[in-house]
Amino acid sequence: MDEKASHRLSIAVDMDGVIADTETHFIQYYEKESGERVDRKIMLGVPESQAFPDKTAVQRYVRTPGFFRTLPLIQGSVAAVKSLMEDFDVYIVSAAMEFPLSLYEKKQWLEEHFPFISWRNIVFCGDKSIIKTDYLIDDHLKNLDNFSGTPLMFHAAHNILVNHHRRMNNWEEILDFFKELRKTK
Ligand SMILES: [Mg+2]
Repeated sequence: MDEKASHRLSIAVDMDGVIADTETHFIQYYEKESGERVDRKIMLGVPESQAFPDKTAVQRYVRTPGFFRTLPLIQGSVAAVKSLMEDFDVYIVSAAMEFPLSLYEKKQWLEEHFPFISWRNIVFCGDKSIIKTDYLIDDHLKNLDNFSGTPLMFHAAHNILVNHHRRMNNWEEILDFFKELRKTK
């Protein structure tokens, strides 16, 4: 192994809420199904499953074929991940086992939007506490709190009241954060 490769730091990147825009998708599904266009503000500070007037909606959508295949992208995520891959070992890590139907759809979605990521760098799992990368970019506390490396919390409506993790508001901020590390290497 050459000197450079042996010193590469690793980053685990979550899918939903980090590279895939689940909030927008939930709102669009809700409008399509109920005819009601809800204000994004209803998602602030509450679990996604509790945000909508119909509390069964979110749980239904994540079990609906096609939901994960058609997620919109989080702005800036494709270019940012591509850029990070130049200096870091980047892994896409999704707790997809919670929704087994999503596995193939998530793989297809990654092939469409992130075709430059090898299947070797994709981890579909259950409990993310087994992930031992140096960094984890994730929107959910259940993953960030138990992470053994450095957790970075990607901004989401549901985590707006959380203050005990370093918040990344967008992919631009993530690139800035890792730019500093690139310099010090
Ligand atoms: Mg997530």
